[in-house]
Amino acid sequence: MATQFEPVIGLEIHVQLASKTKMFCTCPNGMDESSGPNTEICPRCSGQPGTLPVMNEGAVRLGVRAGLALGCKTNEVSSFERKHYFYPDLPKGYQITQNAHPVNGRGEIEITFGPKTNLQKKKIGIHHAHLEEDAAKSSHEAQYSLVDFNRAGCPLLEIVSMPDMRSADEAYAYLTEIKRLMKWVDASNCDMEKGELRVDVNVSLRPVGQEKFGTRTEIKNLNSFKAVRDAINYEIARQTEVLNKGEKVVQQTLLWDKEQNITKPMRSKEDALDYRYFPEPDLPPLILRKDRLEKIKADMPELPAAKEAKFVGLGLSAYDAGVLTITRAVAEYFEAVLKAGAPAKAAANWITTDLLGALHAENKEIEDSPIAAENLAELIGLVESGKISRTQAKTVFEKMYQTGEKAAALVEKLGLSQVSDEGQLFAWAQEAINEAPKAVADFKKGNRAAVGALVGAVMRKSKGKANPKRMNEILVELLSK
Ligand SMILES: [Zn+2]
Repeated sequence: MATQFEPVIGLEIHVQLASKTKMFCTCPNGMDESSGPNTEICPRCSGQPGTLPVMNEGAVRLGVRAGLALGCKTNEVSSFERKHYFYPDLPKGYQITQNAHPVNGRGEIEITFGPKTNLQKKKIGIHHAHLEEDAAKSSHEAQYSLVDFNRAGCPLLEIVSMPDMRSADEAYAYLTEIKRLMKWVDASNCDMEKGELRVDVNVSLRPVGQEKFGTRTEIKNLNSFKAVRDAINYEIARQTEVLNKGEKVVQQTLLWDKEQNITKPMRSKEDALDYRYFPEPDLPPLILRKDRLEKIKADMPELPAAKEAKFVGLGLSAYDAGVLTITRAVAEYFEAVLKAGAPAKAAANWITTDLLGALHAENKEIEDSPIAAENLAELIGLVESGKISRTQAKTVFEKMYQTGEKAAALVEKLGLSQVSDEGQLFAWAQEAINEAPKAVADFKKGNRAAVGALVGAVMRKSKGKANPKRMNEILVELLSK
């Protein structure tokens, strides 16, 4: 029988911090699409001799916020080192990074994965998260290569996980959670297409039950969440085949080829590369005094895990609580609807299905919602008080979404309010009973569900204006006589 193998997966994620300027100079951080290559550079970030780095306080603050979101211990003293390698995208010949003493030490986050009806949770350790500067961007043509230094010196946070993941799904969930947390605390915009979030994956296999890690490979060039998942699954299958043939996995760096859906070797003996780290002599140690750290902590928003727990406490399912905390803006919108008086369950339903559905169809975010939170609360109130039915509310919702008008005004305008005149309701009920002897006979035989058909008939007669709950009661009353 073939040996059963267990995958061991770790991720290294680079996020570009959303500070206004670069890590060690005052050039703008973040590409202005309109400006051409090599326009947002200065002698410092293009590595001219004689220039000195100056620490960007804003980037440090965002790096610490990110660390706090990851549950990391903030190190009061951290330091920068030079990492040497020779490549045209690195003008100084070294990258300023944190190595032995990163600003964020050990941390831990919780991931959620699995099917909607059977969500699983798992803790994933964070080894550390350190600050560094980005390299330039090179593009290779057939006869020549081009280098754009706009990206050189942009502030990055590298988040290194513990090798705690055991499947591609767990890695996918981890990545999703990192992105949610980074955006939640405004540390990074995490736009993968703009290179604001980059992922390298380490994969190895070991026989089930064995503690010692197997030989790992590192996969680069992962441009989407899907690529991360596909590449891990491919690599698990490839390594399983190698080991089952009695061969050895070669430690190497692989590139993901998304056209062919395979990994390809990039260079081997990656670990043989000696970066000759040494302390950056031009930067003093980064010291976070207690009062400064306390200030950063005090400015932190409530984190998604705490919000989720709070929402579950309101009676929502874990799944709904997850959807309502997908971004901080969604959570705050939901809370604003509650504050305006709507019950939690109804508010959750309207937001998770109707509102997010409509926004999603147009590729919009909750910030773009044409329906203000208090207007949605008003609509929910009209349903709750029986003024309009849920079906009518759907119509009102659509109009509100199109026009941004208020619910009560639209109900008036569309002539939608429910008929609650008892005389009229009884007349409709009697008419429906007279027209459906079979449903009446079924009811008398004990089939109480037969009332549903009669309610439906009344709803058609009244063009949806009868209050279905009250109608049900009236019909049962008449039929029980
Ligand atoms: Zn610069």
